[in-house]
Amino acid sequence: MAQTPLLDMQDIDIAFGGVAALKRARLTVAAGEVHALIGQNGAGKSTLIKILTGAYRKSAGTIRFDGREIDFRTPKEAREAGISTIYQEINLVPFRSVAENIFLGREPRRFGLIDWKTVQRRASELLESFGLRIDVKKPVREFSTAIQQMVALARAVSSDAKMVIMDESTSSLDEREVELLFTVVRRLRDDGRAVIFVSHRLDELYALCDRVTVMRDGQTVAENAMQDMDKLKLVTTMLGRTLAAVVHEDSAVKEANLAKRGPVALAAQGLAAGAKVTDVSLDVHAGEAVGLAGLLGSGRTETMRLLFGADRPAKGALSIGGERAAFKSPKDAIARGVAYLTEDRKAEGIVPELSVRDNLTLVCLPALTKRGVVDVAKQREIVDGFIESLGIKLRSPDQPIRELSGGNQQKVLLARWLATHPRVLLLDEPTRGIDVGAKADVAKIVRELRDAGLAVLLSASELEELTAVADRAVVIRDGETVAQLDGAQMNETSIMDAIAYGAGERSALVEAVQSTARGSER
Ligand code: ADP
Ligand code: MG
Repeated sequence: MAQTPLLDMQDIDIAFGGVAALKRARLTVAAGEVHALIGQNGAGKSTLIKILTGAYRKSAGTIRFDGREIDFRTPKEAREAGISTIYQEINLVPFRSVAENIFLGREPRRFGLIDWKTVQRRASELLESFGLRIDVKKPVREFSTAIQQMVALARAVSSDAKMVIMDESTSSLDEREVELLFTVVRRLRDDGRAVIFVSHRLDELYALCDRVTVMRDGQTVAENAMQDMDKLKLVTTMLGRTLAAVVHEDSAVKEANLAKRGPVALAAQGLAAGAKVTDVSLDVHAGEAVGLAGLLGSGRTETMRLLFGADRPAKGALSIGGERAAFKSPKDAIARGVAYLTEDRKAEGIVPELSVRDNLTLVCLPALTKRGVVDVAKQREIVDGFIESLGIKLRSPDQPIRELSGGNQQKVLLARWLATHPRVLLLDEPTRGIDVGAKADVAKIVRELRDAGLAVLLSASELEELTAVADRAVVIRDGETVAQLDGAQMNETSIMDAIAYGAGERSALVEAVQSTARGSER
């Protein structure tokens, strides 16, 4: 950037409850540019924006905006300084008219009174210049999200906002609406204003943005011209992996597993629910482990919840062992042999005050109970059996589970589900937050379960952990299945490639890698 940037945020820190959410984060944006701010869910994008706009207070760092150092204490101060923010939840007044919303607080007046005629005429003219012809006298709540976004943008355009921030504001729009919005964004840019554009839809960024800042784990990890970052580089930067770190997998073993797997145990066709899952198709055979890959926020957890009946799909079909399944609740799924280890061990998994014994038998307890009496001998047999077979380290089964290490808690939760004799095992991030030794144990257990004939579907944000265990991978992006990679075709590079390019395109890199691999096989 040649001239002084309009916005210069340096070394920004903030913590929530002692946990650092931003660590020396940076963001610089010039006037007249559309700047992409990207990163996986939880990377810190919204937090950085909230600090800029006075919604949160930073604990360290400096912010310069429009030539002076600033530290806004309220969103109002930021607005008055010329920063206009459009969140996903739009901050308009729903029952007021479109025209009122555009000029709220800045209404043109005649003889001290609001000149409604002028308000309406100017609002209509402004929206028409965006190609939008609507009745500006109607309340905004009567219009679609897309139009509400346009109204919010019109408000920014008509005010003297020097910077407009759009945080994930396209996530609920369809293609045509996005295109319309882009036209307005480009106009703002051509007016010499700056736009910060947060989106997880990579394709959009190339169509719109001039420069990009990538965040990961609360830090700024890359700042670049958009054209100097191809999609694969964006994805690897977001994930924090380099191509050099890609390990070679023993694909022969995976191929052999796939050759001897059983029939389809679980199949989903065109699943959709809400905004997070739009079109997921996958199947898992008995005796194979399938990795569900995708960025954080791509819809993996939401997909697993649908497969387990925790949420109900709006569209699509599900089958278990070749028979149609329509789960009304997890109870139905459990009855059909589906088990689900949730991603959030603390909130949804363990009951901290209960003993290991009670935690382990929580789901299978009804089967051990006759006329209100628990078969204690049978319960002990199950508990001792799993402690032994999974190598759970503890003092006593009567010990509260909270006293166990994360890895051992995870094994207890796994045992809880195995005690229900499932056919299908859904494991959401089973290796997250546990130590290296426990990770290896979990991987080994998953392989043994697969070899015993279970159908395993597992997710892991660490691609290395995913490819180590899975025989093949289903890749989802923005709630949609974009690729299926089998055995020899599945590795960290091909998964990242699918995340970056989706189903249609393939990078030259992967083509090259694969043709080399094919060549060496001959
Ligand atoms: P992004 O917008 O990139 O998805 P966020 O900025 O929303 O990420 O979140 C970054 C991190 O800060 C996350 O770990 C999130 O849980 C945490 N965080 C954000 N806001 C709060 C808050 N008000 N209280 C506690 N933690 C928060
Ligand atoms: Mg966010």
